[in-house]
Formats: sequence, structure tokens, C-alpha cells
Amino acid sequence: MRIILLGPPGAGKGTQAQLICKRYNVPQISTGDMLRAAIREGTELGLQAKSVMDNGGLVSDELIIGLVKERIAQPDCVNGCIFDGFPRTVAQAEALELLLERRHMKAVLLDMFVEEDEVIKRLLNRGKTSGRADDNYETIKKRLQV
Ligand code: ADP
Repeated sequence: MRIILLGPPGAGKGTQAQLICKRYNVPQISTGDMLRAAIREGTELGLQAKSVMDNGGLVSDELIIGLVKERIAQPDCVNGCIFDGFPRTVAQAEALELLLERRHMKAVLLDMFVEEDEVIKRLLNRGKTSGRADDNYETIKKRLQV
């Protein structure tokens, strides 16, 4: 069970990932969650990622690919995993393709479509309770563009 969830911020990738993970007992690999954890822990990665994330930009492919590579080598990923928020660039997609090929693994891709107005509404609402610095109108617009 290997699924890649694609879709704009606010499409519901995290929500669906949690449901699928529970049902199939595989881990969720959310690069956004991993980056936020790194920021909370004050690691080098977190320090590098914070300003980019607060501005709604993309963290470098090198950092992200390294992070995912390490994560999927963990024993809890042997039966699969759900990718949420990764890949986000062509370079990341190519790196993932290679990683999977080397392990003779395949993945299913689910692309989630949601209208922009709806996504903005959801993210503004989420920002009220999540305290996420990037869930404000300006940054949401930028993230959608990116
Ligand atoms: P959302 O999907 O709501 O934007 P995420 O938690 O997936 O939330 O991502 C939050 C931020 O983390 C992104 O705006 C970006 O700065 C960074 N990020 C997460 N995943 C990636 C990735 N695969 N590549 C580059 N940056 C990423």
C-alpha cells in the first residue's frame, strides 16, 4: 500500500492520509508535519526551513529529498506508506521514482481537486485554531501559486 496524495493546500490530503493510514496500518509521511516538528525541536533543518515556510515558499529539494529518503528507510515503512505533501516538484517526483524503483516498489497517485475559493475558506478557518503562521490570506495565495 503506497499512495501519493496530490492536491492544493487545504484539499484535505492530511485528513485523508490519516484515515487511510489507520485503515491499512501504514505510516503517514507528511513532509510539512516533519518540517514543523523540526522547527519545534529547533534542529538545523528546522532553522533552515522556518522562514521559507512562513513565507509560503518551497523548502529546497535537497533537504526534502534527504528527509524522505531517511524516513522511508525506517522499518515501519516496509508494508507501505502514504505520502502527503510530497512530491511537490519535478525533482522530488524524479527522486521518489528512483527510490521506489530501486526497491522494486510501485505507488498509486491520487490527485485531489478542490476549487480555489473553497480551499481559501478552509485554510482561513484552519488558521483560527491551528495557529499555523502560514494560514493567513497573503501566504495562502502564495502557497496556491507555488
Ligand atoms: P499545506 O499543504 O497546507 O501547504 P504542508 O504542511 O504540506 O501544508 O506544507 C507546509 C509548508 O512546508 C509548505 O508551504 C512548504 O514551505 C513546506 N513543504 C512541505 N512539503 C514540502 C515539499 N515536499 N517540498 C518543499 N517544501 C515543502
